[in-house]
Formats: sequence, C-alpha cells, structure tokens
Amino acid sequence: MYNPKSTKAEEFISHQEVLDTIEYAQQNKNNKELINKIMEKARLKKGLNHREASVLLVSDCNEIFSLAKEIKEDFYGNRIVLFAPLYLSNYCINGCTYCPFHAKNTHITRKKMTQEEIKNEVIALQDMGHKRLALEAGEDPVNNPIEYILESINTIYSIKHKNGAIRRVNVNIAATTVENYKKLHEAGIGTYILFQETYNKESYEKLHPTGPKHNYAYHTEAMDRAMQGGIDDVGIGVLFGLENYMYEFAAILMHAEHLEALYGVGPHTISVPRIRKADDIDPTTFANGIDDETFKKIVAVIRIAVPYTGMIISTRENKECRKDLLELGVSQISGGSKTSVGGYYEPEKEDEDSSQFEINDNRTLDEVVNWLMELNYLPSFCTACYGNNRTGERFMELCKDQQIHNFCHPNAIMTLKEYLTDYASDKTKETSKNLLLKEIEKITDEKRKQIVIQNLEKIEQGLRDFKF
Ligand code: SAM
Ligand code: SF4
Repeated sequence: MYNPKSTKAEEFISHQEVLDTIEYAQQNKNNKELINKIMEKARLKKGLNHREASVLLVSDCNEIFSLAKEIKEDFYGNRIVLFAPLYLSNYCINGCTYCPFHAKNTHITRKKMTQEEIKNEVIALQDMGHKRLALEAGEDPVNNPIEYILESINTIYSIKHKNGAIRRVNVNIAATTVENYKKLHEAGIGTYILFQETYNKESYEKLHPTGPKHNYAYHTEAMDRAMQGGIDDVGIGVLFGLENYMYEFAAILMHAEHLEALYGVGPHTISVPRIRKADDIDPTTFANGIDDETFKKIVAVIRIAVPYTGMIISTRENKECRKDLLELGVSQISGGSKTSVGGYYEPEKEDEDSSQFEINDNRTLDEVVNWLMELNYLPSFCTACYGNNRTGERFMELCKDQQIHNFCHPNAIMTLKEYLTDYASDKTKETSKNLLLKEIEKITDEKRKQIVIQNLEKIEQGLRDFKF
C-alpha cells in the first residue's frame, strides 16, 4: 500500500507506514548499534529517510544538535533570509477549528484589501526594507477568487517606491486546481506554500469539519498539482499541536520523499509553525502541544534529514526560541510581521482585530536585522535565485553540491548593503561595519570579491539590484 511514487495521498502518506515507523522508532530508541549506524550515514550530510530520522528523534543521542549546527553551517553558512507575511483577506469559508478566520467566527473583523490598500501596504513594507513577501489569504471563491490573488500579485510587483521593490512573492493560499497553479506560476510567484496542518486523515477530517478544506486527499495532493502546473518550488509544513508530533514528523519527511521520488525535487522549504492563541482560539484545548525542547529536537533532526531544504520560523515564536532554532537549522525568518489585514499601513484599533494569531516576537525589522548581526549572522534580502531561474531541480543540484554558497553569500552581502543604505538605523549601521568586512573577506574567489566590493560602492552611489 505504501508507495512514495504514487500520486494518491493515502499511498504516499500511508497511515500504516507512519504507524510502523513510530513503532520502529520506539523499539529502537535505545539500540546503540543502529543509532551509531544512522549517525554515520547522517554525517555524510546527504540526508536520512523518515524511518532513520524518526529513530534519532526519539533517541537520546545528543550529537544530533552539533551535527545539525554543522550541516546548517555547511549548507547555509551564517546567512538568514528575511521576509514578511502579507494578509490580503481574512474572508474564509472553511471551518478549521484552530484558526480564527474560520467561517463561523462572527466577531472577528472581516477585511479584504482593495488594490489601492495593497499598494499602501506594500509601500509600508518596502519602507521597512522588505524585498520578499509571503501572501496569505483565507479560502473564499466569492471574496478571494484566483483573479483577485493574481491581480494583487501584479500590483505588488509593480510598486517601485523610492529604492524599494518586492522582488519575490511567495504565496500561501488554499489548495487549488492545476489550472490555477499554472496561473500563479505565470504571475511569477516564488514558492507556493501550503501547510498540511496534520497528515493524520482522521484528525484532519475532524479539525476541518466543513468547507472545501475538509477533503484530505485534495489538500494532501495539492503539491502534486502545483508541480503539474509548473511550480517547482513548493513549501510544506504542519501545524504542530494538532496531532502527535511523531506522526507529523514521519509523515512530513514521507511527503518530501514523495516529491523527490516523483518530480526529482524535494520541497524548497519546510515550515514548522506551532499553534498560537487567537481571537476565538485557545491553544490549550489542543492536546498535542509540544514544549520547546521537543521542538528544537524536531528542527535539528529535520535539518539532518533534509540538509538542502530551507526551514522557516515565523514570529509565532519568541526571540529566545528563534535564537536557538537559528543555530539548529532554520534558514528563513519573518521580521516586523503583522498578521492582520492592512496592519502595516494602518495599525489596528483594539476593537477591530482582524489578525490571525498572537505574535511572540514584536520587534521591528531593523531590530531583528541588528540582533542577527550581533549574533554573527548575515541577514539576507536576496531573491536572486528566483530572478535567475535557479529554482526547482537546478536549485537543489547547486544546494546538494554545496555550490549555492558562491551565489548566496555575495548576494546576501549586497542586499544587506542595500538595506543598510536605504533603511537601517544608525545603531544597525554601526553593528554592520565589522560584519561586512568579515563577510567580504570570506569570499575566496578573488575576482568575485572585487566585483562585490565595486558593487557595494555602486550601491552607496544609488544603484540597486546587483546579483550573481
Ligand atoms: N488559508 C490558507 C490555508 O489555510 O492554507 C493559507 C493561509 S493561513 C492564513 C496560514 C496558516 O496559518 C495555516 O495553514 C495554519 O497552519 C496557520 N494557522 C492557523 N491558525 C493558527 C493559529 N491559531 N496559530 C498558529 N498558526 C495558525
Ligand atoms: Fe481559512 Fe486557512 Fe484559517 Fe483554515 S487556516 S480558516 S482555510 S484561513
């Protein structure tokens, strides 16, 4: 029944295979010999399968943390990519029991931005320094049809305010048809992101009692349709807290294996959101919440299992937790986020809350950039891979050969310089001085280093958008 190459949800995420994996992991959690063998394979930095990774997850092998850090360093260096979510509309016809946008919530303020409002919102985001967005919208064929999403993407890309530009729009909207994925691809989206919420079919159906999202197979097979529609960068994720984390962990890796087996390219990113308090949502009513220690273990073992897949952490997590997760494998974080509709341009009045969940990191983008540099990370606003067609299989090849550094590292330096020149506070500029010098020195190819140095001067003179 289990078949990674099948296009049927219940075959590539076989319930029985997940249960067998959990049992296998529990039986072997103290099996030193097997754990040593798995760690030997892990140290080759070419990944692990869902069974091997599940054993590590429940074992008390502490080496996973140092290995995760090492892999992170090898594949991503000290770069951290920054983005912001942009909520277009919170109208939704689904009944997701964990989300305040669910159709039966009558007290949340419903909002849908007009193109004019989107323009204001994007200008506010550009003025913060953002270059990369994740579009978010509820599912509602009347209020948020695909035409609305496409028009909004077009508006976002067209706005050039001062030196600002949104150069990559990732899209997180409900599962849709191949036809619509084609349209999103043609509109020039970056990654198509869709969280599975839970891979357990029975729980999934209970947690999504009404609306089109109730259909487990349609939702789980969405990435297959996205690939058929020509989108080769897809982002997967689960909402931790809904189901047993071991189930989700094994299943999300099986999903990654399925995409790799069938399309030759695994997911571009994995997101690891945890359920949060929201308008009519109390996270303590969900029985499967995970503590910080378990969460860190999950992130570390994902990093080891799929070294070349980016990992995303949002402002659902607080500063301290984000700091630990950055070390263990996270490569992208949001900064200065708002989860309300129109929240960047016009901060909400208390009684008009349209936000999706409570944010646990309320710092400005500038504070996050400064903090990252103080921790010796290189904040990156790079979107070049997308512009230079380094997507899908081509991107993965470069990642697997660890060649992606040659592009990402100089691009991170140049986009950070743009940020510093156009948007940073004096404090952040000061913090950046030593870091930039150190990062330039790290470029081993002398010719490339000279080009970067020249481009940094050109950025100071007002030129923008240099990339390798
Ligand atoms: N409506 C689209 C969908 O459901 O795929 C996409 C946008 S939805 C705004 C983005 C994600 O937010 C959901 O997939 C869900 O995992 C997450 N989410 C919903 N309620 C949440 C909560 N209370 N705490 C944390 N994350 C939540
Ligand atoms: Fe709607 Fe998405 Fe929220 Fe579900 S998670 S209620 S589909 S916005």
